[in-house]
Amino acid sequence: MNAAEDSRLLLAPDTVVVSAGRPAREHDAPVNPPIVLSSTYVGTGTVVDGDRAYGRYSNPSWDPFEQALAQLEGAELPALLYASGLAAVSSALSLVPAGGTLVMPRHSYQGALVMASELAQRGALILKTVDIADTEAVEAVLAEGQVSMLWLESPTNPMLEIADVPRLAGAARAAGALVVADNTFSTPLVQRPLEAGADVVLHSVTKYLAGHSDVVLGALVTSNAELRAELLHHRSIHGGIAGPFEAWLALRGLRTLALRIERSQASAAELALRLQQHPQVDGVRYPGLATDPGHDRAKAQMDGFGSILGIEVAGGQVAAEKVVEALQLWVPATSLGGVESLIERRRRHANEPASVPANFLRLSVGIENVEDLWADLRQALDAL
Ligand SMILES: *Cc1c(COP(=O)(O)O)cnc(C)c1O
Repeated sequence: MNAAEDSRLLLAPDTVVVSAGRPAREHDAPVNPPIVLSSTYVGTGTVVDGDRAYGRYSNPSWDPFEQALAQLEGAELPALLYASGLAAVSSALSLVPAGGTLVMPRHSYQGALVMASELAQRGALILKTVDIADTEAVEAVLAEGQVSMLWLESPTNPMLEIADVPRLAGAARAAGALVVADNTFSTPLVQRPLEAGADVVLHSVTKYLAGHSDVVLGALVTSNAELRAELLHHRSIHGGIAGPFEAWLALRGLRTLALRIERSQASAAELALRLQQHPQVDGVRYPGLATDPGHDRAKAQMDGFGSILGIEVAGGQVAAEKVVEALQLWVPATSLGGVESLIERRRRHANEPASVPANFLRLSVGIENVEDLWADLRQALDAL
């Protein structure tokens, strides 16, 4: 038996990322799972539940990652891998019944908000957006009744607001609403929403879990067998499945997750402090800063503060654009969670909510030497 699957061994998460999803220990067995390239599987007689049957229903290349992620999130059932984070969002939103109400943070991941608004526009659901950091306001919306799903993202993308995850999950449950938590920013090493009462956890595996900006994938995790069956059915019928090579790359990336997070979190904390002192920076958003409005809440419910931070550049949009152009090491690109540090002015996207300031830069801190990262930021800010 694989050591990580032996429940008698209670392994720490930084061990699980390395040991989970390995092939059985047999003489001459490979240490890593193989990539299985097959669109169909041999079978005769009636197809029964659990048969591989066809490549859109299952692939052995997905299983190791699905087991590893479930173990990390503390789920009792294997995760479900998807073609992208948004394919996972689409599957999760399929749990809202026709005409049901969905409550979402106003600063949710932009693609999830666009999808939800488009579904609302054609009458598939009712969308209510909220300030997710304002617990009483969210509870008031839940108390109005008839809410089918509460969507949680904490920290939010890109404004880094912190939701009171356990309290809101409890309030949603009391109101009969399902809770889906997008845990992309934190990863299960920093935050485990299922333990805090969420029904489903969502990941853009593209980001930290895979970690090398070379693959697009998503995942859902739940311990609820009925919900998992519904989601699996949706994945099989809508077809948003992962490629075998991508699944293999994601597991390969996961092996170093603990080291990457340790390094990038420490660097993000250091950079947040230094940026706060720079005269060309009007404000820093990072839940690890003692002055951040979400700090106490984040401290209570997370094992760390993540590696994403936001700054508002003094001098507005033009100054912020100049900083991005002057950087030499930081890569100007959307996305986050890779080994390389990325920076982006979020409002360059037409769909970004106007409540995100025009001079706001989102920084995804990678694993480079922190002094090099700082020197590059400082020269770009000093040049203003
Ligand atoms: C990137 C992202 C997504 C979407 O994932 P894709 O893999 O790009 O489809 C969803 N949620 C968050 C928080 C993200 O950062």
